[in-house]
Amino acid sequence: MSGSAAPGKVVTGAVDIGGTKIAVGAIDASGRVLGRAETPTAAEEGFDSAMGRVGDLLDSVRANAGVELRGIGIGCTGPVDPLSGEIGQVEFLPGWQGANPVATLASRFGVEVAMENDADAAVLGELQWGAGRGRRNLICVTIGTGIGGGIVLNGALYRGVGGAHPEIGHHVIDDSGPLCYCGARGCWEVLASGPAIAAHARANLPTDYPQRDTLTAAALCARARRGDAQARSEVERAGRYLGIGIANLISLYTPDAIVLSGSVMDSADLFMPVIRAVVRSNCTQVPANLVEIDVAALGSEAPLIGAAAVWRHRYTGDLQ
Ligand SMILES: [Zn+2]
Repeated sequence: MSGSAAPGKVVTGAVDIGGTKIAVGAIDASGRVLGRAETPTAAEEGFDSAMGRVGDLLDSVRANAGVELRGIGIGCTGPVDPLSGEIGQVEFLPGWQGANPVATLASRFGVEVAMENDADAAVLGELQWGAGRGRRNLICVTIGTGIGGGIVLNGALYRGVGGAHPEIGHHVIDDSGPLCYCGARGCWEVLASGPAIAAHARANLPTDYPQRDTLTAAALCARARRGDAQARSEVERAGRYLGIGIANLISLYTPDAIVLSGSVMDSADLFMPVIRAVVRSNCTQVPANLVEIDVAALGSEAPLIGAAAVWRHRYTGDLQ
C-alpha cells in the first residue's frame, strides 16, 4: 500500500484481469495509485472464486487507503464484450466465457462498473493521464508477447461493427511472411512482437552464435546495445517491421499521436530511430511530421491506471 488520502475521498476502483494475475487498485483523479493488491488469476478455480477474491481485495484496498469507490473500471485480456460486460472466448481464461465481471462487481459494490479489453484500457489510460494527454486522435500500440492496440478518434474510444475491437496486430505487413495463428501470413504480430523477434533471430543467426537457441528479444536488444553487429542487424530488421506497421497506421488515421508501450518498448532507444526513418520514407502523402510518436508514460502500473480510465471515460466523459 502506498500514498495517502483524506478519509472518505472518493476515487475510482480498478481491476486488471490477466491470464496469470488479477491486480486491483484505488486510483485518484490525478491517476495516482493510492493502493493496490493482486491475486493469482487461477482461472481453473472458476470465475466465482476469482471474483470473490477480487471483491475482498478491493474492499481491503479501499479500507486501507481510507477512500470510497465511486465506480469500478476493468481492463481484461480479450476478447470481451464491453457493452454487455461479458467475457468472450479468452485463451487464458478457460471456462469463463459468458461470465460477467461487470454485473458481479456492480452487484457487490453498488456502483457502476465498466469494462474494456486491456488494449483499449491502455489507450484510455495514456489519453487521460499519460503520453497522450490532450490528444483528440490517439493510437496506443502495445508490443510485447503480441501486438495490440486501441484507437481513440475525436476523443472517444473507436468501436467497430457490433462493438468489435480492431486487431491491429493482424494487419498484414508481408504476405510472404510467417504463418500467423489467425490464418493469415505475415501479420504485424508474427513479424515484430517480442516472440517473433526472438524466433527470427534464433532461426537466422549462425549456429555458433552464443546461446542462439534460447535468445529472447530482450537479450538480443542487450547485445545490440553492446555493439554486437549480428544482434544489431536483427534489431534493425524488427525496427523496420515495427516502423512499417506504425507508418500504415499513420497513413490510415493521421492521428495526433501514436504511443508505444509493451515489453519490446523497454528497448525503445534501439527501435525508435528505425521506426522514425521508416515513417519518414513511407508516409509521404500525409503530414506525418505532425504525428507525435512517443513511448508510453504510465509505466508498470499502466494496466491498473488504464482500468480506472475505462470507468472515467464511460461514465464521466472526463478525458483530460
Ligand atoms: Zn494474424
